[in-house]
Amino acid sequence: MVKLEYGYLPETLAEALEIRAAEKVVPYAGGTDLMVEAEEHATYLFLNQLAELSRINVTEDMLEIGAACTYTELLNHEAVPQVLKDAMILIASPATRNQATPAGNICNASPKADSALIFVAAGAKLRLRSVQGERIVPIGEFFVGRGKTILRDDELLTEILLPRRGLDNYYYKKIGARASMAISRVSFVAIFGEEAGRITRMSIAFGAISSVILRFPEFEALMIGKTIEEAKALKGEFLAKFDEAIVPIRGRVSATYRKQACMSLLNDFLASRGI
Ligand SMILES: Cc1cc2nc3c(=O)[nH]c(=O)nc-3n(C[C@H](O)[C@H](O)[C@H](O)COP(=O)(O)OP(=O)(O)OC[C@H]3O[C@@H](n4cnc5c(N)ncnc54)[C@H](O)[C@@H]3O)c2cc1C
Repeated sequence: MVKLEYGYLPETLAEALEIRAAEKVVPYAGGTDLMVEAEEHATYLFLNQLAELSRINVTEDMLEIGAACTYTELLNHEAVPQVLKDAMILIASPATRNQATPAGNICNASPKADSALIFVAAGAKLRLRSVQGERIVPIGEFFVGRGKTILRDDELLTEILLPRRGLDNYYYKKIGARASMAISRVSFVAIFGEEAGRITRMSIAFGAISSVILRFPEFEALMIGKTIEEAKALKGEFLAKFDEAIVPIRGRVSATYRKQACMSLLNDFLASRGI
């Protein structure tokens, strides 16, 4: 382990976890969120050179993404699903993507986090480790508010566990002020599945409209098992539920704009699947 002026450069994950347990340190992946508002006296725990966190492990059902893997590495990896690639390619610029990580995007816990949106809709899980052991939590339970997560002070996010199956049929849109280098004003993804004429999946997530990324599994459940014709008949009820539940906060754009954008995207997604 190397002690630097601003923190620690551990050589192994075990060392990193020991430092995390013993001292008040700020985990540092790519630093692209942290350095925007760098704390003057922070002690950083640099994770970006840890070999154990730099792996992408492909199993039959799962992609295990190490917390030090950058967007560029993931964009160049053949097993990464296209829906995640579509979101990552719109994040910042190539230079930032060479440093920044989805793990940092998740731990920063912004509702505007573009890769986190995809992980939420895809039902990813997070492996959190400490010197005490590990726990695996669904990403939806990780966020408790803007910038707030359930991560303990002695824990690190070590891997993102992304299911590999059932992500190919999707609808993704990011609304920003520009075509590139834009922070989301509203983001939307829907992952769809259909088998033997019946809907098997409709996982919908909305970003940048509330204090956390929003998903409504109880509304999604209305459409599961239905034929397209049955789904069409339910469309009014389905849309009304979202219309009532989505109460966007005001930001750089008005709450009214955000609400209209959400409902238009939801409608457009349904129409694109014949509903
Ligand atoms: C110019 C610019 C443009 C940007 N554009 C976008 C955009 O379009 N979309 C978007 O979503 N974001 C954007 N961002 C924000 C940022 O780049 C992303 O959120 C990025 O994914 C953060 O990753 P990082 O590795 O740099 O995180 P860091 O800055 O290193 O860390 C972010 C937070 O996560 C914590 N953390 C990091 N790793 C771990 C870990 N393993 N365990 C526990 N805690 C950890 C850190 O302590 C910190 O609180 C932009 C940033 C800049 C500077």
